[in-house]
Amino acid sequence: MALMTAKQYEESLRELNLNVYMFGKKLQNVVDDPMIRPSMNAVAATYELAHQPEYEHLMTARSHLTGEKVNRFTHIHQCVDDLVKKSKMGRLLGRLTGCCFQRCVGMDALNALSIVTYNTDQKHGTKYYDRFLDYLRHVQEKDLTCDGAMTDPKGHRGVPPHKQPDPDHFVRVVDEQSDGIIIRGAKAHQTGAVNSHEIIVMPTLAMREEDRDYAVSFALPSDTKGIIYIVGRQSCDTRKLESGCMDRGNVLYGGHEALVVFENVFVPWDRVFMYKEHEMAGQLVESFAGYHRQSYACKVGVGDVLIGAAQLVAEYNGVAGAGHVKDKLIEMNHLNETLYCGCIACASEGYQEPSGTYSVDTLLANVHKQNVTRFPYEISRLAQDLAGGLMVTCPSEQDLNSPEVGHLVTKYLQAEPNTSMKDRMHVLRLIENLTLGAAAVGYLTESMHGAGSPQAQRVMISRRANMQEKVKAAKRLCGIEASD
Ligand SMILES: Cc1cc2nc3c(=O)[nH]c(=O)nc-3n(C[C@H](O)[C@H](O)[C@H](O)COP(=O)(O)OP(=O)(O)OC[C@H]3O[C@@H](n4cnc5c(N)ncnc54)[C@H](O)[C@@H]3O)c2cc1C
Ligand code: SF4
Repeated sequence: MALMTAKQYEESLRELNLNVYMFGKKLQNVVDDPMIRPSMNAVAATYELAHQPEYEHLMTARSHLTGEKVNRFTHIHQCVDDLVKKSKMGRLLGRLTGCCFQRCVGMDALNALSIVTYNTDQKHGTKYYDRFLDYLRHVQEKDLTCDGAMTDPKGHRGVPPHKQPDPDHFVRVVDEQSDGIIIRGAKAHQTGAVNSHEIIVMPTLAMREEDRDYAVSFALPSDTKGIIYIVGRQSCDTRKLESGCMDRGNVLYGGHEALVVFENVFVPWDRVFMYKEHEMAGQLVESFAGYHRQSYACKVGVGDVLIGAAQLVAEYNGVAGAGHVKDKLIEMNHLNETLYCGCIACASEGYQEPSGTYSVDTLLANVHKQNVTRFPYEISRLAQDLAGGLMVTCPSEQDLNSPEVGHLVTKYLQAEPNTSMKDRMHVLRLIENLTLGAAAVGYLTESMHGAGSPQAQRVMISRRANMQEKVKAAKRLCGIEASD
């Protein structure tokens, strides 16, 4: 089965026996839970679109291992065109779902491992790359969704893993056996964790010799014994439990994150991709982060939705023709397309790594992500400006439908007379969802912290910007070079 359908994906999740907790209770049926379901729908869209002829060129690729058609989310980038298509796919799905569709972290983990397992073998004479390729073949053949798990809880941010008061604040090896290793610790903020078939664990920072027990990377089926998922809360999340769907804002899709705990979990050797080669941890972090910073092409697609919503609300309010409104929409588009330039540029300037995998240009990927930490906030500010205060004071859908007060809501919330008052409520809820509600988790806070907080990109920009070349250019033009 090289390409699953959305239905097959849903059924495959039913076969998993995940240990998931939410609101203090164990979930018996994860797939149909009304809180989780919208996020499952968003991942299902990555399967659905792969079967649609108009999107096939973006959503699928030829496996370099088997020559079979595979979902691009399981593909290893073989050329610059693959990288560019990855950015376009992210925008497409962001626009379709208006939220986080979760599957990119696994794709980015696979691509990073395809580079680093090869480099580790070259340096240490290990056999990780072949092991990784066997795993990749499995993921591609079954069309699996993988959770990319990098971020540890990290405890005291100022001290390295081996000096943490609680040694479990970074995922670590606690025992070695003839057939595998035992792992303990946790990964925080895991996007799409309970919608995933597999979990791919990577270290979260560059490591020194003293931290070698923490320099570990591996992959496991998501329902492996000892893995516990604790689903994170999102702003306005329990609106999904209410009757009606208008107040959810996004009536179709959503995202989720979870705290994933590893309670003495066994990992067989054939699923281990790094084992105490501490000096390779930093390379894996940088490679994953580069790819994932490119993946924030998704925010451009979500930005498309928010800009569309801002245009609509201006029409419903009867002010779409006003000069300042048009100008604000132009600014929103300018910022959003600037983001698009970044994710296309870092892909277009991609290059081949020794393993054959194509990597993004790291400097440009970091500049792109740095912009992502800012522009969605400004786009949101402008959308809230155009929405008016009603986006946070609007009565509920139940009030709209109430026999007692429904007519009052209808009368007083009507704006431009030729537009629908109910549609106005719908679009205000969508803007609320994207800028303050459940989708703001992905559109705003994840834009800030996902794939590393802003400072992480500034560190990379300072490392990758070629300052010597710039100084040389300046010296030459002002005549300093001639006097050297
Ligand atoms: C919605 C969402 C989804 C995510 N999805 C995933 C996922 O699927 N997989 C995954 O692996 N990760 C995921 N992440 C995690 C993301 O990569 C982290 O949030 C990010 O790396 C920041 O880490 P943190 O949240 O622990 O913040 P912190 O590291 O606590 O950062 C808070 C502040 O402290 C600063 N700081 C931190 N450490 C230091 C230090 N040593 N010295 C000085 N300043 C410091 C930071 O710069 C920042 O300003 C997700 C995050 C979010 C918000
Ligand atoms: S935030 Fe964007 S890049 Fe990250 S997993 Fe979600 S959709 Fe993909």
